[in-house]
Amino acid sequence: MSRLWSAVVEGLTPYVPGEQPHVADLVKLNTNESPFGPSPRALEAIRAAATDDLRLYPDFDATDLRETLAAYHGVKPEQVFPGNGSDEVLGHTFAALLNHEAPLLFADLTYSFYPVYCRLFGIAFETVPVDEEMRVRVADYRRPAGAIILANPNAPTAIALPRADVETLLSEHPDIPVVIDEAYVDFGGETATPLISTHPNLLVVRTMSKSRALAGLRVGYALGDAGLIEALHRVKDSFNSYPLGRPAQAGAIASVKDEGYFQATLAQVLELRGKLTEGLVLLGFSVPPSSTNFLFARHASRGGAELAAALREKAVLVRHFAKPRISEYLRITVGTERENARLLQALAEILG
Ligand code: PMP
Repeated sequence: MSRLWSAVVEGLTPYVPGEQPHVADLVKLNTNESPFGPSPRALEAIRAAATDDLRLYPDFDATDLRETLAAYHGVKPEQVFPGNGSDEVLGHTFAALLNHEAPLLFADLTYSFYPVYCRLFGIAFETVPVDEEMRVRVADYRRPAGAIILANPNAPTAIALPRADVETLLSEHPDIPVVIDEAYVDFGGETATPLISTHPNLLVVRTMSKSRALAGLRVGYALGDAGLIEALHRVKDSFNSYPLGRPAQAGAIASVKDEGYFQATLAQVLELRGKLTEGLVLLGFSVPPSSTNFLFARHASRGGAELAAALREKAVLVRHFAKPRISEYLRITVGTERENARLLQALAEILG
């Protein structure tokens, strides 16, 4: 331990992001990025924002972006909270809404950033096991809880929970914050957004990193009752008032307004996902149906760690988690046609 550190730092186990190595001709299927570029209109807006105006701070309230997102989702601007990627929005959410005397509940298999925030903010938490098919069962959340967070669709399992189940969860826990992290919802989940008007304890968190292909811009947001959103603003303005720069705000607005490009690229990802699933099944993988832009696949005879390492040797990156219950699985992002073909070719060679 460094005697120069704050006490809390020693107890942290930081999240380990998927690697971003600089290797020539790398097939990068490890961080669920989009295989396509962002909307050309978003790129144009980002370029147009690169002017002398960058000497000025951005709108700290991201008013135009909030209005654009509110119109898109059918809520009011005061029900929208944008941030520097949904990771930041989640971080503020943990601090603002999820720290209570009773434990925060989340699935044992879910986004591994959740326990990291808990340790940073000193939040007591309990994990709730997913069932044998790795599904979240909302009935298992009937226990003392200070708050609940679910990723839906869940990661890394790629499994979605029907909106009816989210509604059941909300009706069974009307007095505690319930956060639904919808990072992957556009790829096949049912959004909980329509439930916001009837459930003031619901916060929905979204990102532009996946379906909008803007991981490099860092824009995420939360939708919920204005009371919840106010709590997020209080934390944000106690931390960093200007999380989104001018290019990020401009690019995000233009992306939301380009529905045609959004729908077209989404349809292509779903088609590629289907083909990649078929290719993996032919190679002996079991691939449960995915509601996301990645597959969670397990080979009949070869181990996950071994396969991930062998793929890496061939400059193909996938994600492997050396964790109980999922250590035999690979989490594979749906890539371009060419990337998916290279992955399947590499696997064919490895599997002989
Ligand atoms: N939630 C989930 C479930 C994720 O998988 C990710 C991506 N790692 C995020 C949130 C954060 O995404 P971003 O910060 O790029 O918005």
